[in-house]
Amino acid sequence: MSCSKDSENNTVVVEDENGNPIEVDTSANKKGVGDSANDLLSSNSFEKLVVEILYVDNLQPTASTLVNFKDFLEARLNKPQGVEIVQRQVENESQEVYSIQDIRNIEDTHRSKFNEQGTITVSGLFLDGEYDQNTENGSVLGVAYRNTSFVIFGQTIREFSNQPLAPSLTTLESVVVNHEVGHLLGLVNAGTDMQTNHQDTAHGRHCTDDNCLMFWTAETGEGLLNMLTGGSIPSLDTFCIADLQANGGK
Ligand SMILES: [Zn+2]
Ligand SMILES: [Zn+2]
Repeated sequence: MSCSKDSENNTVVVEDENGNPIEVDTSANKKGVGDSANDLLSSNSFEKLVVEILYVDNLQPTASTLVNFKDFLEARLNKPQGVEIVQRQVENESQEVYSIQDIRNIEDTHRSKFNEQGTITVSGLFLDGEYDQNTENGSVLGVAYRNTSFVIFGQTIREFSNQPLAPSLTTLESVVVNHEVGHLLGLVNAGTDMQTNHQDTAHGRHCTDDNCLMFWTAETGEGLLNMLTGGSIPSLDTFCIADLQANGGK
């Protein structure tokens, strides 16, 4: 879709619905994580959300993951014009390891949906390879890295879902996608104010409730396998939901 871009000026040329090139301002989609929490949660400025899923190779999320993701968004966001998820395969850079700057560059090359009148957009990138912040005991499964951008390490998730007795690919993908969007929604204490103190400050922007979707272990493979006992997808606890409701969400 993108035929030219100028990241210095924060503009990109995309095709409109009639196939004509139009120049779009991308600066509203290049802010920090949590900066658009209210815009995502409330209908004050945007009544519709479009999520653009970009994936490499066969790392397309499962159909059930996208159903779970849409259910999660519709349950928490005030979007009277609805939530739409579109997806597209993009060229694989085939790196073994990706830094957050590599990931930003890939998004900038391929993202085609940006905020426009009444519609806010989110980019979700499903990548092969692994994150350069991985440690021996912490294989990162996803990162929220801009106000409307997250990355999912699809190949790493598959390595965990393929382990004996591990939860299904859909379960692992659903937890990580919902968790990363939770960060875009300003959780915890990162763009959405806490109504009660429940920030696990030792682990940054996470919740103290170990049954909550926003517990810190939901983001690494090792932690998530420990956290998921029955194979069901953790929900947000009452503390996190109260925060979202106070910032325009449902
Ligand atoms: Zn997290
Ligand atoms: Zn919570």
